[in-house]
Amino acid sequence: MSRPVTPDQRRALLEEVKKIYGELAGRPLERQCTGRAECCRFRLTGRTPFLTKGEALVAAAAVRAGGRKRLVATADGSCPLLVGGRCSIYESRPFGCRTHFCEAAGGPAARGAVRDLIQRLEDIDGKLGGSGGVNLVTAIEAALAGK
Ligand code: SF4
Repeated sequence: MSRPVTPDQRRALLEEVKKIYGELAGRPLERQCTGRAECCRFRLTGRTPFLTKGEALVAAAAVRAGGRKRLVATADGSCPLLVGGRCSIYESRPFGCRTHFCEAAGGPAARGAVRDLIQRLEDIDGKLGGSGGVNLVTAIEAALAGK
């Protein structure tokens, strides 16, 4: 079991999550996203991103910054953060949203190309007392609830 982190350590770990996102953006991964947001329509794709705790906390902070305290389920089964056809927390979207490209955009990033970044997210998860990947909605709701 991990030891509780101090507020400063927690802040540093969340900065590290953002740094990982930045490093991913700098990698030469083939992508032809046209912004159709198909990957955000979970019922349509049958796939939902799974988040580590650091990712969930970063996403929850962006949700709060946007003035929301909870996620509201959608009637069509799409991500509750998809608003007007666009991601409402785009800069803070989770790792899976950045790598699980739809078929039209070239398919998912090869795991080997991002394995080291996933490992770092998992290490941060362990330090924050997380328990591995959790479904996007459940993970962000828990982070919003301070769990
Ligand atoms: S967090 Fe944003 S990018 Fe990820 S599934 Fe939801 S709306 Fe799409």
